[in-house]
Amino acid sequence: MTQPELPVIDGPNCPLPIHNRGTIVLGHGSGGQMTHDLIRDVFHSRLSNAILNASNDAAKIPETPSGKRLVVSTDAHIVTPLFFAGGDIGRLAVCGTVNDVATLGAEPHYLTATFILEEGFAIHELELIVDSFADACHEAGVELIAADTKVTEKGKSDKLFISTTGFGWAESRLQIGGEQAKPGDAVIISGPVGNHGIAVAEARGNLGFSSQVCSDIAPLNHMVKALLDANLDVHVLRDPTRGGLATTLVEIARQSKVNIQLDEENIPVDKPVRKTCELLGLDPLYLANEGKLILILPAEQAEQALQVMHNSRYGGKAKLIGKVLEQSKGQVWLKTPFGTTRVLEMLAGEMLPRIC
Ligand code: MG
Repeated sequence: MTQPELPVIDGPNCPLPIHNRGTIVLGHGSGGQMTHDLIRDVFHSRLSNAILNASNDAAKIPETPSGKRLVVSTDAHIVTPLFFAGGDIGRLAVCGTVNDVATLGAEPHYLTATFILEEGFAIHELELIVDSFADACHEAGVELIAADTKVTEKGKSDKLFISTTGFGWAESRLQIGGEQAKPGDAVIISGPVGNHGIAVAEARGNLGFSSQVCSDIAPLNHMVKALLDANLDVHVLRDPTRGGLATTLVEIARQSKVNIQLDEENIPVDKPVRKTCELLGLDPLYLANEGKLILILPAEQAEQALQVMHNSRYGGKAKLIGKVLEQSKGQVWLKTPFGTTRVLEMLAGEMLPRIC
């Protein structure tokens, strides 16, 4: 195939690396030959599967197996910068949606995606991101079955936005949701919190020093499946993304109309994250995560659940961090190492915009 003549964008206002694959031009969004070439060379070559390869305007999803229900989630990803320690927008767009489907107890199977490209975006960078997107799909065991690309004029979007929708099936009998926390339940987190928030802030040059922190972006569906296969009576699963652990637990407390008490000493925070937070006056409980799972289930099953998590790839540092108290309007209490207790509120405003 002969590459179309692409203009090379250069100059002091262009932060994009020049690469011989050229850059996105408005013609890539025309729906014509250039669009077909881009889709074939960048997307189909990396994400090929039987349903996508049918190349129709819609994808046919196989029938829902009996005794199961369809679970769907959708999410737009606008993180800046596109690359950061531990990940990029491609891995984020897959894992974010896979995790939202998995946290209703479903096995994610399919994704659809829309890629919004800005004129002038380097095709070489797009290829790296689609490689990462494909790797994450492979790791999670999901297939991209329908997709769209659109191109905006330079300055009308920002390099690349990705919107993904995920489809999975859950056993119909499962009653998992934010409204299911019950007095006496244990609250478990699958590992240290705050890493994604710090990694993105650093990549943006917001720290002014090197924190050595990598994002935790990971697909959590295999850990969820292991928990369900162990026949645990799972009440709540949730990934604490924007707003962090604190905001997510306040959401759950309000949905379930219960109070939750956390032991600050037991909440895992990696040393470099803690140090960075101390220097900048940030609270790790409010920093975004992209590979952590909150699990709430009957206290007598906590030990078994921890064992299952410790044996899964992304749950090695899982810890019991608190318990569900009485029915109420829904508050989260944090017991500090000094013996005092404070109420955790939802994150007010935006600590770090465009984090995911
Ligand atoms: Mg979520």
